[in-house]
Amino acid sequence: MIRSVDQKILVETTKRFRRNQAEKQRTGLYPLEMLILYVTMRCNAKCDHCFCWEDLNVGIPEMSLEQIEKVAESTPPLRQLLLTGGEPTLRADLIDIVRAFAKRGKAQTVLINTNGLKPKKIVAMTEELKAEFPDLGLEYQLSLDGLATTHDRIRGVPGNFDKVIETLKAIYDLKSKYRNLGAHALTVITELNYEELIPLNDFLREHVSHDFVHGFELVRDVETTAWHIPAEVAEQGVGPKAMALPPTESFPQIAEDLKVINSRGPYRANSFHVHNLAQLRMVETEKEQFKCVTAGQAVGVLYSNGDVAHCEFTLPFANLEKFDFNFDDLWHGEEANERRKQISKCFCIHGCFHGKAVEYTWKGIWEMTKAAM
Ligand code: SF4
Ligand code: SF4
Repeated sequence: MIRSVDQKILVETTKRFRRNQAEKQRTGLYPLEMLILYVTMRCNAKCDHCFCWEDLNVGIPEMSLEQIEKVAESTPPLRQLLLTGGEPTLRADLIDIVRAFAKRGKAQTVLINTNGLKPKKIVAMTEELKAEFPDLGLEYQLSLDGLATTHDRIRGVPGNFDKVIETLKAIYDLKSKYRNLGAHALTVITELNYEELIPLNDFLREHVSHDFVHGFELVRDVETTAWHIPAEVAEQGVGPKAMALPPTESFPQIAEDLKVINSRGPYRANSFHVHNLAQLRMVETEKEQFKCVTAGQAVGVLYSNGDVAHCEFTLPFANLEKFDFNFDDLWHGEEANERRKQISKCFCIHGCFHGKAVEYTWKGIWEMTKAAM
């Protein structure tokens, strides 16, 4: 018996899949669905599993608000704008970056990654944005890697766990006041926390919401969780400074835990859950699970300095400055097309790409259906 909430998700995903297929046949490319925008490379945490730690707090430039306005003007309407970094809330004009896209109707949902260290700023920004753009989907993705001791140790910030819970509770309170507002936790599974997934989920259900949305991702790096990237385009050094995958003997138990947690959530037809189970299989077998049709088509990466890449495991291929910050010109330019050809054979566990790829195949939609049953 599939619940109505899951039926709705499956119908919408199938419709979108068909639309995207038609667009691909017409133009040769899937339409851009999500832009991952790094608004800053500054960060106030020191996470052991951070995959971009070498680029943090080393003075990498940030596009100005005026330049980001030009980007917003020139992107197609996105299903999702993901603001990330670094820690996005460290940018004083973060709210204006959201506004740049929202006032042009260029983002159906803005998803903001945060380590949750600034609950007051998040609450104030949310109130202001929801008053201005009630229809805008606004979602926060809070990093949460274990119960208090584990989380604070991984993040290198004492008290970080309490701040995340404070932030989550505050956003859940606001959910009763505003529509199209959400928050969820994302746990990066590592050697240090893989036995804590269920206890952490229990805690969130008890202290934040019984209907809590809890996402997961396996810790990743370009050397051990990506395969067949041509050496000349592989990004170097992307990966954690001091954190490894859980032992493979633990994978069956992790899969079981993830299934339990998915069955507890407000919806079960969850492409990211399908991706999580596939990630484990991919690491174990080193075999591709869902073809990465998303990098450079449905998903793009824009770094804070204006560099653009098709994904974070491959090198940027151009900088927006050359295109006067016109994103569309760059995305359909020669360099972008050339790079697309170079990355047609690789596969990896990166959720922003592999997780989305699930929704671009009948196999993925069938796996989502089975998860919902
Ligand atoms: S994972 Fe996020 S919060 Fe942690 S150091 Fe990296 S950028 Fe900062
Ligand atoms: S995200 Fe896609 S293109 Fe990028 S390395 Fe992974 S498989 Fe290759």
